[in-house]
Amino acid sequence: MMDIQVHKVGIISCSGEEIPEGTLCRLGCRKVLDEHPGETVTICLPLLIAGGEEERTFAANYPTITVDGCDKMCAARATEMLSGKPSKRFSIPEILNKRGLKAPDKLRHFGPEEDAAVQAVAEEISQAVNEVLEEE
Ligand code: SF4
Repeated sequence: MMDIQVHKVGIISCSGEEIPEGTLCRLGCRKVLDEHPGETVTICLPLLIAGGEEERTFAANYPTITVDGCDKMCAARATEMLSGKPSKRFSIPEILNKRGLKAPDKLRHFGPEEDAAVQAVAEEISQAVNEVLEEE
């Protein structure tokens, strides 16, 4: 039985593998999960879409934050359709634009040159986690 008194936020990253922004989603989300242990859990988007009951139940009962690599907004759309409207939805191009940063050229194996973009994504999500928890 799920205890809905526990304050947690589900972080749902898009699974884009074909553009650098998809990698930014995953690395930014990973950083937030490490920085907010006990307050955040990751929800696997492919499993949510494939019918994972645990993922769908969690996303239906707890606030979620979706992070997408492009304006197709796969994570936000799937979450809303299958479990409920996300509390916050991010797109990487919007975050980069807001911060005056360019998308990395590399698809993966990010290094120090990509740190600023990963950090910017993590900061935006992290701030959203704090806001969502305060609203709870
Ligand atoms: S939001 Fe864009 S990058 Fe992410 S999975 Fe969908 S199409 Fe791919």
